[in-house]
Amino acid sequence: MERKTFPTSETVDFIVVGSGSAGGIVARELALAGHSVVIMEQGPRLDAWEFEHDELKYRHLSGITNNPATNPQTFRRDESEVAVRRNSMTYARVVGGSSSHFNANFWRLHEIDFIERSVLGPIEGADLVDWPITYAELEPYYCKVEWEVGVSGLAGASPFASFHSRPYPMPHLPIKSSGVLFERGARALGLHPFPSPMAINSTVYRGRPACVQCGLCGGFACEVKAKNSSVWTVIPEAEESGNCEVRSNSYVFQIGMNDAGRATGVHYFDGDRVEQFQHARAVVVCANGSETPKLLLNSATNAQPTGLANSSDMVGRNLMLNKGGGAQARFEEPLNEYKGANVTMMLHDFYNSDPARGFYGGGGFTARSGGPLTWGQNVPEGTPTWGPEFKDYLESYTHWMNCAGHGTSLAQPTNRIDIDPDLKDDWGVSAMRVTYKDHPDDMKHAQFMVDRAVEIMDAAGAVQIVPSEVGPANGGVHLLGTCRMGDDPTTSVIDKYHRTHDVTNLFLCDGSSLPTSTRGQPTHTIEALAFRAAEHINRFAAANEI
Ligand SMILES: Cc1cc2nc3c(=O)[nH]c(=O)nc-3n(C[C@H](O)[C@H](O)[C@H](O)COP(=O)(O)OP(=O)(O)OC[C@H]3O[C@@H](n4cnc5c(N)ncnc54)[C@H](O)[C@@H]3O)c2cc1C
Repeated sequence: MERKTFPTSETVDFIVVGSGSAGGIVARELALAGHSVVIMEQGPRLDAWEFEHDELKYRHLSGITNNPATNPQTFRRDESEVAVRRNSMTYARVVGGSSSHFNANFWRLHEIDFIERSVLGPIEGADLVDWPITYAELEPYYCKVEWEVGVSGLAGASPFASFHSRPYPMPHLPIKSSGVLFERGARALGLHPFPSPMAINSTVYRGRPACVQCGLCGGFACEVKAKNSSVWTVIPEAEESGNCEVRSNSYVFQIGMNDAGRATGVHYFDGDRVEQFQHARAVVVCANGSETPKLLLNSATNAQPTGLANSSDMVGRNLMLNKGGGAQARFEEPLNEYKGANVTMMLHDFYNSDPARGFYGGGGFTARSGGPLTWGQNVPEGTPTWGPEFKDYLESYTHWMNCAGHGTSLAQPTNRIDIDPDLKDDWGVSAMRVTYKDHPDDMKHAQFMVDRAVEIMDAAGAVQIVPSEVGPANGGVHLLGTCRMGDDPTTSVIDKYHRTHDVTNLFLCDGSSLPTSTRGQPTHTIEALAFRAAEHINRFAAANEI
């Protein structure tokens, strides 16, 4: 197939900044509706064979993630501290974005997520809000993700799930050892484990193969295209429409604005670091919960001096990262967890925030495994890190699994992305500064999850359990909430159709749109929002309302 290209001088209908979980879907939907679309992606486009099974490079060095040497960030816990240079916001900088290297746990939200503020009331120190949409409004788009992108799972298996109007298109993945043990422990405690919904093919689906059980999902891109990353699913479909160009190695550093207050296109550096401008009738930023606010703040104009779309001063605020807590467990027999998708069983018994616990928070648990290198670096306290006992520990790798709790983070306006006053990246663009401190309830909830994980693993018959330590967040991979949606332009950045309150032809859609944190697996929701946003943007375009 010959790929469509547009000259920068041509005014295309839409620029989509970012080709990740949300960007790929938005671009496909706009292109299929007949609009000309350029996806600007700062990272390279890699073919399946170019991704490697190299745990050191992909999980510990910046194999496909944002590189601290060239894209530095700074971090501090609160405004009283001087931010130090450290990359705390991690995402994949390639065509496909973080959908390329994620674990692919695909959880829908429940009805409660959209109305928690009304149900629970205010929480001190936090800005808990209701969403401007309901579960019922998003439900058809969850289905759309499941069927168009591909999700395996067993609808109806969780007694706590909100309604599904369609089953999943593929059966769940085969349950592996960790899943069997997790189920045994959970059932012994009267809990309700069920097979995890995953954006990984369990059968051949839409021309792509089933998972080959290589065991390297989280942090890696799928070389057989069984993981449903944008780069293998929606992006090729957008290109096949003949209306969409994916412009890789194109780093957008500013949104162009005219005197009438309308976006005119984007300023970007091409692969040779030469400054370019692409004209467009409208811009949709899908650059994730850290880069979207950075781009808006770096795009300040005389008319909008504190950053684009920032009349509310909410751009970058309410960063949420999903706090977790769990336990590693060792079993008598080998589990051989290095094979298979990372997660096959989970439970949602502790999903809802229960006021009786005395703190806010809820989440889910998964049975999971990690790569040997990552595991080998988390040596339990008391185990020597040298000599024969360390060797014994390393050789016990195949006997271990992880019971991982994934939970909420409360929105706090002081937790934010803004622009570092001093640091610039390799392109001379001002770097992001991250300010983040856990809410006390997030810490209490994380400890609650650790305690539950220990109980589950104990009931499963583990011979050794290592509870995870609950410490302050040092960064995250779920980058959420920094340009929240809402009906009130003084307290939110975008409306419920993802249009910025301040700029008529500027839309934002990605992890930054979420008003609350989800229960630890946000991407199904980010993608459902992307289908929904694109439908409304197409509607506005058809009515000449952009
Ligand atoms: C190791 C790992 C495991 C994970 N596992 C799970 C999981 O199991 N389940 C789950 O729900 N979530 C998981 N996540 C999180 C998930 O990947 C993200 O929530 C999701 O992909 C975010 O989607 P997005 O569209 O907001 O951003 P992204 O997918 O990050 O896409 C943003 C894209 O924009 C590009 N971009 C940014 N700035 C610019 C710019 N200025 N110019 C041009 N391009 C730009 C980026 O390079 C990137 O490609 C995981 C994340 C990681 C890192």
